[in-house]
Amino acid sequence: MPQIKTHCKICNCRCGIVATVNDGRVEKISGDPECKKNDGALCIKGKVMLELLYDPDRLLYPMVRQGENWNRLSWDSALTQIARKLLQLKATHGPQSVAIYRGMSVYSWLVAVFLNRFGMAFGTPNFASNAALCVSSKVIATHTSFGRGVSVGGDFRNSRCILLLGTNPAVTGMHRSLRIMKDILAAKKAGAKLIVVDPRKTETAVKADIYTTIRPGTDTAFIMGLVNYIIENELFDSDFVSRYTHGFEQLKAAARKYTPKMVEQTTWVHEETLQKIARMFATNRPACADRREGVIHHEHGTETCLAINILNAITGNVDVDGGVQVQTNLFDKSSDLFRELTGAEQFMPAAAPVTGRNPFTGDVPTALLEAILKDKPYPIRGMIVVGSNPLISWPQTDMVRRALQKLELLVIVDLYRNDTAVFAHYALPAATFLEKLDLQAPNVAIPRVVQLQKPVIPPLGESRSESWIIKALADKLGYGSLFCETDEQVMDRILSQMGLRTEELKNHPSGMVIEPRPVGYYHSHPYPTPSGMIELYSDSFEKKGGPGLPSFREPSESPISSPQIAERFPLVLVTGNRLRSSYLSFLHNLPTLHAKNPENWVELHPEAAAARGIENGERVVVESPRGSIKLPAKVSPDIDPRVVAIPYGWGHHFNGSWQLANRDPGANPNVLLDYRKIDKLSGMPNFKSTLCEVRKVEGGG
Ligand code: SF4
Repeated sequence: MPQIKTHCKICNCRCGIVATVNDGRVEKISGDPECKKNDGALCIKGKVMLELLYDPDRLLYPMVRQGENWNRLSWDSALTQIARKLLQLKATHGPQSVAIYRGMSVYSWLVAVFLNRFGMAFGTPNFASNAALCVSSKVIATHTSFGRGVSVGGDFRNSRCILLLGTNPAVTGMHRSLRIMKDILAAKKAGAKLIVVDPRKTETAVKADIYTTIRPGTDTAFIMGLVNYIIENELFDSDFVSRYTHGFEQLKAAARKYTPKMVEQTTWVHEETLQKIARMFATNRPACADRREGVIHHEHGTETCLAINILNAITGNVDVDGGVQVQTNLFDKSSDLFRELTGAEQFMPAAAPVTGRNPFTGDVPTALLEAILKDKPYPIRGMIVVGSNPLISWPQTDMVRRALQKLELLVIVDLYRNDTAVFAHYALPAATFLEKLDLQAPNVAIPRVVQLQKPVIPPLGESRSESWIIKALADKLGYGSLFCETDEQVMDRILSQMGLRTEELKNHPSGMVIEPRPVGYYHSHPYPTPSGMIELYSDSFEKKGGPGLPSFREPSESPISSPQIAERFPLVLVTGNRLRSSYLSFLHNLPTLHAKNPENWVELHPEAAAARGIENGERVVVESPRGSIKLPAKVSPDIDPRVVAIPYGWGHHFNGSWQLANRDPGANPNVLLDYRKIDKLSGMPNFKSTLCEVRKVEGGG
């Protein structure tokens, strides 16, 4: 039977796969042993991707909602009707009244180029993406510390000390590669130390040499405490600091207040633990500190990422084997080519984006809510949502629902008629990654593998690739001439940045590894920052309104900043912890994954449970100043007694097309959050440091 190599795109690890196809049907999927991202391994989600491809609940035809009912219609009718409504909105409220939102499940340069070009041609500046839910803060911090156009990642395999903050690579690939935990364990076997900082004693933390809890939202204080201790005890690399960094004296002065005592009082990390971690990190080189959403999903996550960059830099662990590697982005949104491909020069929309109040990033779904609900700074009345389920993923579900209900036109392009579709007017069927051509060229990955995503079967039903859908809609609007390039031609233009062509990738079905700049490149070349050095202190960021140096700021809702709220809601709520068998809501209808976790739960410590008379498995109420949800309690010693955690992606009571997911809807922790609590530098919502209380259900569950 024919075997076709391509790549899994359920998550951003993009593992190599081999599809066995028989008579137009994919019979089997296995890992591609020649792909450097996963060495033949697949996670449970990848192993069951055929349940996604052949899910009987998939959206396979264009649909229109008429009242409570959804009816099928032809592509031509659907696109004609949508185009007519878009033009009406443009005439009535201006082109800026239509927003485009792209989710994680269609993260791709090709889709980004076409959606941006579509927005430009229509005249709207309001293109937002899930970046504001997962990466914006660290991208801004990377640009500030190391310069534009680069990404950083820890070289775990060659490291002698790995410090992980807010990430659990035993369960997720940190968006880089499935082999990341394998690299960490190999480094450990060779003698490396592993330090894990997390309020949950995670699957990764149990492997650590030092594990400590931390109060959510206080990571900047902790890191600055390490920085201060390392400087005070002269454990920093003075040679590296003087040669390659800018602003050490300002840093030294600013770090002084983060004494071990202050850090303990602020973060719950014991003085001795902080000192031990600082010594271990500074004296076992090369070392690397790395981070993910656990420290980013806060109101000051950008500053935490800046502090982590500083820690790596002052210990001489940047641009060295086993440390943090600085790599030029394969393709960059700030590049001239991206601007050219999206038509940014030609068609720059007249209006400023609603997210324009934020000088550093345009990706702020929270700002879209304000524009829809309050017409600030102007009304948004139409939205095209591609590969996303904002009703589930955006903070403060009640506000999201009100906003979606208010739209005059909501179009979703998706694999399913998901929860958001309940408020949509049209649902357009997208093809899965097994049914469409695409290019995967991630910036943040070690190794960096450029991959051609090949269709292994034609699209099922009338589903189509997002690029086909965007072009077809553009054609109906009269912009067809702007979209005459084929997908392959656009991919060729993107690949030209890497000195490659699509044809060449076809001959390398396991992907091509792009060799990074040799380690030590920046020892003899300037960093792309204003000073040409790693900016510990950034004058330019300060001039733009950011902080010159990171400093700890108390979360706006915490036991310290809001003691009155804490009296009634004493527990710190962390949402969105990763699970092996779940990723985003679109996986919740797959029988194998559903059987593993039919619904989500609230995890709390036995002490917290006992104080409230709660038993393991009992259905409880979790409430915050914004709302309440009911979930089963998972009583576990592996979480700090002052913290509770709820996995996200559930809350499917909106009756989308999912048979299975709707049967066990779970509850959405985003109900409990405040959409206005965001990192002002990046626009990222605070998903991981607000207050809540857990109590028994009155009258029993
Ligand atoms: S880690 Fe799993 S879901 Fe992600 S790309 Fe690899 S196989 Fe697919």
